[in-house]
Amino acid sequence: MFNAAEVVKSYKSVAIGVLASHSSLQIIKGARELSLRSVCITVPNREKMYSAFPYAMPDEFVRVDRWDRIDAARLRELNVVLVPHGSLIEYNKQHMLDLEVPVFGNRKSLLWESKREKMYEWLRKAGLKVPKVFASPDEVDRPCLIKYDGAKGGQGYVVVDSPSEAREALKKGPAVIQEFVTGVRLYPHFFYSPLRKNGYRASEGRVELLGFDRRVESNVDEVGREVALFGKKAHVSFTVVANEMLAVRESLIPQYLEMGKAVIETADELFGGIPGPFCLETIVTSDLDIYVFEISARIVAGTNVLFSPYSRFVFGEEITMGERIAREVKDAYEMGMLEKVVS
Ligand code: AMP
Repeated sequence: MFNAAEVVKSYKSVAIGVLASHSSLQIIKGARELSLRSVCITVPNREKMYSAFPYAMPDEFVRVDRWDRIDAARLRELNVVLVPHGSLIEYNKQHMLDLEVPVFGNRKSLLWESKREKMYEWLRKAGLKVPKVFASPDEVDRPCLIKYDGAKGGQGYVVVDSPSEAREALKKGPAVIQEFVTGVRLYPHFFYSPLRKNGYRASEGRVELLGFDRRVESNVDEVGREVALFGKKAHVSFTVVANEMLAVRESLIPQYLEMGKAVIETADELFGGIPGPFCLETIVTSDLDIYVFEISARIVAGTNVLFSPYSRFVFGEEITMGERIAREVKDAYEMGMLEKVVS
């Protein structure tokens, strides 16, 4: 069994490693800001992209033939702590637990977030409000989303409004039938630091709320134009194509902080904690009820909007999530506590 704590004890320095995708530019720039070495794992045709971004150029490339062929031995030689993101998990789903390189955060959390039942167990245990799930299409009594197994980033979701529509949709394959919650979508970016003992306490450290984004989805965010122009019922889809930054109503912030704290403390109980970044996908209704329909236990692409007013209130300056991760890795290394933030 791979023991990340043992491996990082032998590190004579520390470098940030990242797969060349998702939020890699931000993560590499973050490492550079903190004067940490950065190592980028890339397939042949991706490397060229970095020449366009000299300030997000890694110190070193580790070249691989395929995204799922991570050269763990070489990464350990380079004293790498690998920062997981959506693409790393997507390409290495089968062997995330066996990757023989220290991973930033608790990799067990990646398993909890990737299985819908486990994810809802975590959210419910944390006392968060989740949309109703219908066990059978016959029970559908309101607008619902059909979320097929394995659907990514909202792609392929179907909206139904009756038992017969739900039965029809389920013919396409196994899926969850989930209540469609109408409201404003907000995606808060949290960071849990077990090292910092001041601030908004959670578990043995503190929770930081660094920003919010909203996803821009095709075509649900644009169908209003089609309906206005042609007056017909449009076919909607929820494919995420971009993100935009939001500043939220300040009176919602206390609730979000408590939600972040509850997620962290429940993670302690369920699988030993969640150091590092995570994001909740929430919908705020007109009564200001907050529903949570998903959690990502890692950096999310929504943080690529980069700056947020809230990081300024935590650190006195605006920093990105990439930089926040690099600060934690550097702090932990200097305190001789790397094993607390890797798995
Ligand atoms: P997901 O794949 O769960 O991240 O969802 C993709 C998109 O589908 C979200 O960003 C929302 O726009 C939409 N969505 C997912 N679940 C719900 C829900 N229960 N109610 C309303 N919209 C939802």
